[in-house]
Amino acid sequence: MNDCIFCKIAAGEIPGNKVYEDDQVVAFYDLNPAAKVHLLVIPREHIANMMEINAANSAVVAHIFEVIAKLAKELKLEKGFRVVSNCNAYAGQSVFHLHFHVLGGEQLSLTMC
Ligand code: AMP
Repeated sequence: MNDCIFCKIAAGEIPGNKVYEDDQVVAFYDLNPAAKVHLLVIPREHIANMMEINAANSAVVAHIFEVIAKLAKELKLEKGFRVVSNCNAYAGQSVFHLHFHVLGGEQLSLTMC
C-alpha cells in the first residue's frame, strides 16, 4: 500500500531497526518503546488489522507467532512477555497495517500498550 509506513519499512524504503525478516514477515523495534524490549512483528502483505484476517491470509498470522516464539527465545524473554494487537482507533490502533506488539524485558504493568 503506497502511503503505509509499515509497508515502507518492510520494503526497506524507510529505515527500521529490524531484528528479523523473511519472505513473509518483518520484526523491528518500536520507535517509542513501552517496555525495555518492544518489538513489532508484521506481515509483509498489507492487512489493515485483525478484522481483515481470513482463510486466504491467516497462514501468515500463524507464521508470525512462530517468529515471535523464536525471537522471544533469542532475546531471552522466557520469564514473561506480552503480545498485543490493537484493532481500530477505538482500541488505540494508530498504524493501519496489522502488527503484533511484543513487550518484555521487565515486569510488565497491565497498562502497557
Ligand atoms: P498501534 O498504536 O497499536 O497502531 O501501534 C503502532 C506502533 O508503531 C506505535 O507503538 C508506534 O510507536 C510505532 N511506530 C510508528 N512508526 C514507527 C516507525 N517508523 N518505526 C517503528 N515503530 C513505529
